[in-house]
Amino acid sequence: MNPFLISAMATLLHLKRKCPKCKREQMTKPGEKHRSVTCKFCGTKIPPKKTE
Ligand SMILES: [Zn+2]
Repeated sequence: MNPFLISAMATLLHLKRKCPKCKREQMTKPGEKHRSVTCKFCGTKIPPKKTE
């Protein structure tokens, strides 16, 4: 597999975030990686993933 594709997929997986309230997964923008985002389904704030 193309190494570029692997890194692109890893980036996409990292951008996926699961809402703690409604448990639905959604994509976040790359610029929002370290910021809280609002769930587009229920409006709950989803905290950023911890890096450690
Ligand atoms: Zn939600």
